[in-house]
Amino acid sequence: MKAFSFEKPSSIEAAVAALGAEETLPLAGGMTLIPTLKQRLADCAAVVDLSGIAEMSGISLEGDMLVIGAMTRHAEVAGSDVVMKAIPALAKLAARIGDQQVRHRGTIGGSVANNDPAADYPSAVLALGADIVTSKRTISADAFFLGMFETALEPGEIIVSFRFRVPEKAGYAKFASPASRYALAGVFIAKRGDVVRAVVTGAGPCVFRAADIEDALMKDFAPHALDRISIDSTDFMSDIHADKQYRAHLAVVMAKRAVKAALEEGGS
Ligand SMILES: Cc1cc2nc3c(=O)[nH]c(=O)nc-3n(C[C@H](O)[C@H](O)[C@H](O)COP(=O)(O)OP(=O)(O)OC[C@H]3O[C@@H](n4cnc5c(N)ncnc54)[C@H](O)[C@@H]3O)c2cc1C
Repeated sequence: MKAFSFEKPSSIEAAVAALGAEETLPLAGGMTLIPTLKQRLADCAAVVDLSGIAEMSGISLEGDMLVIGAMTRHAEVAGSDVVMKAIPALAKLAARIGDQQVRHRGTIGGSVANNDPAADYPSAVLALGADIVTSKRTISADAFFLGMFETALEPGEIIVSFRFRVPEKAGYAKFASPASRYALAGVFIAKRGDVVRAVVTGAGPCVFRAADIEDALMKDFAPHALDRISIDSTDFMSDIHADKQYRAHLAVVMAKRAVKAALEEGGS
């Protein structure tokens, strides 16, 4: 790792000012950024640690909006009674990220900003149609995830919080890599009124909505509605863990499990 300077501001304004300098990156839990710097896959002159900014952490329910600060750790989301009551699928998703060490350091903001193709949170953010509140503006989930490790965030712009409208039902299921716990394929399903959103992670360059699954579930919100569905695997990923056809098959299996979880009391 090359030497870099380090700053730990206590306000969003001070963090944004510090991030205005060239080659300066925000640091959240460091679960991805630090190994990336160590392996010299990333390079920077300065790091701005966001962990001293109190207003970027915490969980609250504002009417039908669940608000989660970007610096909230996975373990806090997993253990939150507020999340468990409002969107149990989200608490259960957080509980299955990585291992204990990762869950106690990693943050929802770091995960979504990083936009790893196999990360869990992006599927929930997109399926729940969340708003991503940044230091500059509010970005809808539909406009946020652009490609592999690519988002709508501009240089120096940081995620401050997420606003999730509480759905009628939601469920998540993933087939996890036994080594990292990242998803080989995961599906988050959210239902609000007649609208169902189904988002796949782990299978493509970044999260995407599966129209065939959504159409079938809008007609009949039950696992058996997906019995005859098969997803076109053309754009799916192949790697040493699973080829694209297997991932496409897994996506339908995970979607059925997610619907089953959503229908059971307490969600996923
Ligand atoms: C062994 C291991 C297993 C894992 N397993 C899983 C898994 O099963 N599922 C899963 O989803 N994830 C998994 N992860 C990822 C992990 O959960 C973290 O979410 C992820 O590493 C990034 O979060 P972080 O808070 O550590 O961010 P950091 O590593 O600090 O930052 C990541 C990137 O986001 C930027 N950034 C951070 N915060 C912000 C912000 N608020 N605004 C703008 N940019 C920001 C940083 O500059 C950096 O580019 C795993 C990680 C490890 C090391």
